[in-house]
Amino acid sequence: MSRTFNFSAGPAALPEPVLRQAQEELLEWGGERASVMEVSHRGAAFVAAAEEAERDLRELLAVPAHYKVLFLQGGATQHFAQIPMNIASPERAADYIVTGAWGQKAVSEGKPYVKTRVAASSEAGNFTAIPARSEWQLGDDAAYVHYTPNETIHGVEFHETPDTGGVPLVGDFSSTILSRPIDIARHGIVYAGAQKNIGPSGLVVLIVREDLIPSPPSNIAKVLSYAAQAKDGSMLNTPPTFSWYLAGLVFKWLKQQGGLSAMAERNRAKAELLYRAIDGSNGYYRNPVEVSARSWMNVPFTLHDEALDKPFLKESEAAGLLALKGHRAVGGMRASIYNAMPIEGVQALVDFMADFAKRHG
Ligand SMILES: *Cc1c(COP(=O)(O)O)cnc(C)c1O
Repeated sequence: MSRTFNFSAGPAALPEPVLRQAQEELLEWGGERASVMEVSHRGAAFVAAAEEAERDLRELLAVPAHYKVLFLQGGATQHFAQIPMNIASPERAADYIVTGAWGQKAVSEGKPYVKTRVAASSEAGNFTAIPARSEWQLGDDAAYVHYTPNETIHGVEFHETPDTGGVPLVGDFSSTILSRPIDIARHGIVYAGAQKNIGPSGLVVLIVREDLIPSPPSNIAKVLSYAAQAKDGSMLNTPPTFSWYLAGLVFKWLKQQGGLSAMAERNRAKAELLYRAIDGSNGYYRNPVEVSARSWMNVPFTLHDEALDKPFLKESEAAGLLALKGHRAVGGMRASIYNAMPIEGVQALVDFMADFAKRHG
């Protein structure tokens, strides 16, 4: 048995040094004579670790002081509903920019809690591009504008923050957070499920501008209220302590790597290497996404003959390249190359792809 290059879309690869540290302190954490999973979330040791994780995340993302950083549960999917519960109401409208499957899901899950309007969509082109900003039908009355900076399934990424004037911009950053700097101040809410680029599943990081959550809404349970969670330091009830702890280790690792500008350079180089191999394969491999909207994190690609999919998957796995099967909505392959994927892994994939094409003609 040996660890391999893991291209899983999520839950995804974690940095090996982080896993080793967690392994080392699994039985006895700090001075606790118990595992981090076995101590009170209200004890001094865990509270200190939780606060340190928040400080490190704030530093990495340069989060302005008038934003709250929350460590919550429910996955990004639950927050598709929880966001309108907190910053809108069924009588109000919100505009959605739909560039893939997750944006669609955000619309359908938000519907009971706000009048969802699709202000722009690239569905007609099978989600292979981002609609031009000039074509978005935004309303001044919107409670917020929701977008998906990186569509994990379709491999479509915004490379600039869209301008929504005075309307708060809400971004589902699940599959791109921490891959590069984010201009937090241009967002009302930045949120992400942890299991792609932060840590284990079970945790959601949600960064919200204070003025959007002045007080807990009276018509929702307190545990669903961002204002109530903020007031209690995300410890209104028991938080996912192990995920929070592990996320803290990932933040430390990212700081050691040189922070998010350094990660952006690495991630750009990894993506370029893979797209160059696809585009240079004379149609043997193909990525359908418009060049300006190609994701640095999730790279879907098809083989020129579907009959080659099975042998490709079988042989790539044997070569130590795991989880390359594409999402059923798109077909073919998908390589997810989050922060924890070293460039050596992408190079190994590119070498395998060239060799496979040569052998299977
Ligand atoms: C994975 C993913 C989700 C869903 O996350 P859950 O934690 O499973 O709810 C939502 N949005 C994006 C962009 C994702 O990549």
